[in-house]
Amino acid sequence: MKFETIAIHRGNQITDKNKPVVQPITLSTTFEHGNEGGVLYTRANNPNRRALEEVLAALEKGSDAAAFSSGNAAGTVVFQALEPGSHIIAPDDMYHGLHSSMVNLFGGILEVSFVDMSNLEEVKNAIRPNTGLFWVETPSNPLLKITDIRKISDLAKAQGAVLACDNTFATPVFQNPIELGADIVMHSSTKYFGGHSDVLGGALVTKQTNPFWEKIKMIQQVGGAVPSPFDCYLLCRSIRTLAYRMRGHAQHAMILADFLSHHPKVEKVYFPGLKDHPGHEVAASQMTGFGGMLSFTVKGGAAEADAVVSKMRLFANATSLGGVESLVERRAAVEGPTTKTPQNLLRVSVGLEHTDDLLEDLDQALG
Ligand SMILES: *Cc1c(COP(=O)(O)O)cnc(C)c1O
Repeated sequence: MKFETIAIHRGNQITDKNKPVVQPITLSTTFEHGNEGGVLYTRANNPNRRALEEVLAALEKGSDAAAFSSGNAAGTVVFQALEPGSHIIAPDDMYHGLHSSMVNLFGGILEVSFVDMSNLEEVKNAIRPNTGLFWVETPSNPLLKITDIRKISDLAKAQGAVLACDNTFATPVFQNPIELGADIVMHSSTKYFGGHSDVLGGALVTKQTNPFWEKIKMIQQVGGAVPSPFDCYLLCRSIRTLAYRMRGHAQHAMILADFLSHHPKVEKVYFPGLKDHPGHEVAASQMTGFGGMLSFTVKGGAAEADAVVSKMRLFANATSLGGVESLVERRAAVEGPTTKTPQNLLRVSVGLEHTDDLLEDLDQALG
């Protein structure tokens, strides 16, 4: 079956003899021993979590999935599953919360090199005998850098290392890292999967069920950073419209990127759909759409960028992304004093409002 059909039906698992059309929320934490569904206790499993994990695995073309209480919990479990002393190669531009996990949680336990992963030579030069994980995020947050997943996969295979890809920005609607050679796909389902800025969640999907995956599943159960049945229900509900929302987000982002790239107050636009983006060709070869995220720098500095944000009426000045409503934030202010993100950079999560209204608001805010 095709993506849209799987998205609507795979995460909707009806066992009730009254045959509701929508799977109910199973709040019970415990289940009678020997039940036909094979569920025992909600930390280990739950019908709503099973539905969510099955739809996620199917959409990402993996063999199994594990749902977590946040994207950061999901990513952190991958680092935790590595042998102590392992080395990670990670992008110099990546989601700051997982950067912090690598540095602050695993600093004394794992080694990490942050490199420009859009430059294959830099990645090759960073490989050490103990490199156990290549962590890819493409497009990256917030500079929308593109990493060639196929090429990194060749390096990971030669090294016998795991290739994991944070696919939050692209979603499986536009990019299937497993088909491109990744072993593990990670998501913050808080973003496009949830799609309405009202549920926190994370997920991992694996290509194969192997000992590394068994360890991840063990950490999921023992560590216990699992989503509630209600959160799983909300995600299954939102995933049903994911393909349609993503096409809208991507179409709107292209229109806004084009507008911004011609605006005299704008210094530079970061969007992989633009032909002059350095990752455009690689993006076109591994994605079927360019997503709904873009960043741009305002001529001037932090103050000029802040002034634009304060004039916006439709775009909420808030962090996070992937909801139906448009958001904007000056990213360096959120990432703190150690950030390498330009001070005048605004990151935009392009929503599903009408583009005429979005363009009008951008235009008046830029003055
Ligand atoms: C938000 C985000 C995360 C972290 O997810 P949470 O659900 O906030 O814990 C990880 N990676 C990317 C690319 C993100 O945007």
